[in-house]
Amino acid sequence: MLGWFSELKNYRQSLFIIMVLVFTMITVSFVYKYKIEEIMADALKQQIVLKSKGGLEAVNHNFNRIISVLNLASSNISKGISKGNYIGSTKTVETLNDITRVTGFLDIGITDLNDKVMYGFKLEEEDIAKLRNVYVGKTVVTVIASKYGGNYDVLIAVPVYVNQSYVRYALFIRATGEELIKYFNKYTLYDDDFGSSLSFLLYNMYDVVHINEKTQNRLLPKYTVRELVDNTRNRSSINISHRQIQNQVIDNLYVFQGNGLPAHYMSIIRLPYDGWSFVYMLPASELDTKIRAIMTMFGFLTIGTLVILTILLVYYEYTVETNRKKMYNLAYFDEFTGLPNRVNLRNNYKEVYESTYHDHIDKYYFVTVIISNFHMLHNLYGTEISNRFELKLASSMKQMESRLFTPYKGNNSYYAIIKADNRGEVEIALRKLFASAQSIDNIEYRSLFKAGVCSFTSSSMPHNIDDIMDKCSIALYDHKDENVNRNSIVFFVPAMQEEIIRQNNLEKELIPAIYNGEFLVYLQPKYDLNSNRLSGAEALIRWNYKLQRLLPPGQFIPVFEKNGSIAHIDNFIFVSILDLLKRWKELGYRLVPISVNFSQVQFRNPNLLRDLKHRIRGYEDIIRYIDIEITESSTIDSQETVLEILNELKEIGFKLSMDDFGTGYSCLSNISLYPFDTIKLDKSFVDKIDVNFRSSPDVMLVSDVIQITKHFGIHSLVEGVENLDQKNILRDLGCEYCQGYYYSAPLPVAEFERLLCEDKIFEDWR
Ligand code: C2E
Ligand code: MG
Ligand code: MG
Repeated sequence: MLGWFSELKNYRQSLFIIMVLVFTMITVSFVYKYKIEEIMADALKQQIVLKSKGGLEAVNHNFNRIISVLNLASSNISKGISKGNYIGSTKTVETLNDITRVTGFLDIGITDLNDKVMYGFKLEEEDIAKLRNVYVGKTVVTVIASKYGGNYDVLIAVPVYVNQSYVRYALFIRATGEELIKYFNKYTLYDDDFGSSLSFLLYNMYDVVHINEKTQNRLLPKYTVRELVDNTRNRSSINISHRQIQNQVIDNLYVFQGNGLPAHYMSIIRLPYDGWSFVYMLPASELDTKIRAIMTMFGFLTIGTLVILTILLVYYEYTVETNRKKMYNLAYFDEFTGLPNRVNLRNNYKEVYESTYHDHIDKYYFVTVIISNFHMLHNLYGTEISNRFELKLASSMKQMESRLFTPYKGNNSYYAIIKADNRGEVEIALRKLFASAQSIDNIEYRSLFKAGVCSFTSSSMPHNIDDIMDKCSIALYDHKDENVNRNSIVFFVPAMQEEIIRQNNLEKELIPAIYNGEFLVYLQPKYDLNSNRLSGAEALIRWNYKLQRLLPPGQFIPVFEKNGSIAHIDNFIFVSILDLLKRWKELGYRLVPISVNFSQVQFRNPNLLRDLKHRIRGYEDIIRYIDIEITESSTIDSQETVLEILNELKEIGFKLSMDDFGTGYSCLSNISLYPFDTIKLDKSFVDKIDVNFRSSPDVMLVSDVIQITKHFGIHSLVEGVENLDQKNILRDLGCEYCQGYYYSAPLPVAEFERLLCEDKIFEDWR
């Protein structure tokens, strides 16, 4: 319940963070958009300025080159004249041809002071007038109108000196715009960053010459450029740079728009020739496109960052969420079965407990379930299969989950809270659970279950879940041994708790009771079936509890077996019998074998033999009258150790009997494996015998066991014979000895001694 809500809460938190991020980014973008645009534009404009400077250098360089070539030719012609060559002489013509070869300009000429063309290209009158300044020693770079194409050509002229003192002629070339482009391209490195949109113009107050071949198709009309340049003087446009470079004022970057010309950024630089300017232009749209591209990139970057941040945030949330879920599952669910665990049970119990105040109808049943034969399953099939049995139980419990049935898993046990009207309903539910969980595919063996149940009405519900669990556990472990081979359900009753307290007290009382002489030896006679003569006895303990009432062994032996203190009892009997036999011997009584019971707990004592040997010192001659009884189940645990101990006991001189043969895990091969003298068939054999049906399978079974013992030279004794018919059948089947109420119940020592001394043949009775 609290799970998905808190998840939602986390997602809502993330969503909120993302929204804040988006909002911040958008705000920042808006605030900075213009600022960034401005910065971009400034940077780009600076770039245009730098490029125009590059262009200016290139133009200067190229003009200087042409002028140098002309000056060189001029000085050659001067030298020739001083040697007597005339203008039209071969030498002079060669020099002029050199100019064409070097520069590629075809129209070359020489004029004299009187404006007379001495050689080569003939200039128009008005153009010749433009050469005036040459005669005072200046280099002229000017524009002349071309007669044919209507375009303007550039005229470059240098003086030709006579005797290096005065100017006599003017040496000139006429370059068309196309020729200039060709020439400049030969020597100029254009920076193509702005591509074809960049224009280089040469301009001199009157005329315009385009020198960028790429702009040829978009040549500006002459008047437009002039107007444009004139306009810049009004400073109505933006001026971002005004600098002095090489004594030239560079009035850079104006925005101009007019006369059908789209907005342009332009840079105008004055050249040192005759009022020429260098104009460098870039359409404003070009800059805008660039800025737009950058802004788009910026936008994408912003969106990209947002997307990445969102992905990171979502991923982070996802990881946190998965980890949180994992932690939650680890904390509240059993990893193996997926069922809610004990912590979950504890939490839920609070809810159940609190809800009982409003809810007075239901009864609450708390159940603890275990697979009682789990060890057996594990030993038989291994971990994998036994795990499948567990999972089957878990899945069956999950299937039953409802408002009335809530399953949980503890360490080795399973729990359920069942709401029901009566215990009958609970039993039905549990039987249904056991039936559906008992088997798994392909495995013959089945799970066996034990359930401990305790119930409460809403008003009797304890505050603490531990009280409930303890009660379930008491009920669970109160299962009687006869339930071992079937599913069983035990409901808790307060007497069970009292029994535990009683058992706990018994433990404390054991040692004081031994010193207080509360323990007594009783002897149950054994008879020879054929002769009806007393053949021995079994020593059985009795507790004269607080010297007030006799407790039968069933009330304390299992308790002491559980806690291991049974060894004190066994020793007490053992030592008592040693003394008894010794006394009988001294009194000259007939000595008969007396059996003493050895609990299987004793075989876990590594010093058992050492202690025994110590105890029998001085009793060596009566050892052979002591018969040690051990139950068949004692041999199961550690066969080899038990076999070793039994062999040693045998060697010392004790007799050995297998007690309670036929109960538990009977195995006929044990008869030959261990060095037993006698096999004591359990009372259950006799109980099954039908005295009127001698050929029944049960009778045949007893017969077979007796025959097998005979075969191995082992004596047979049947316990619990209660009537003459049983005795007769057993005798007829070949059984040698007998012990039971038919002959005698266990007797106090004095009574047994009387029987022993009388030494009468037992008289049958009905
Ligand atoms: P067990 O060794 O099998 O002893 C035989 C039990 O069967 C005795 O019960 C005996 O009184 C009872 N019994 C004998 N004949 C008959 C009969 O005809 N009918 C019926 N219904 N019962 C008969 P008891 O004395 O109550 O002893 C019970 C068990 O307690 C013994 O079974 C033995 O396992 C254990 N026990 C008794 N004394 C000692 C002891 O000193 N040490 C150990 N370790 N266990 C002892
Ligand atoms: Mg016995
Ligand atoms: Mg027995």
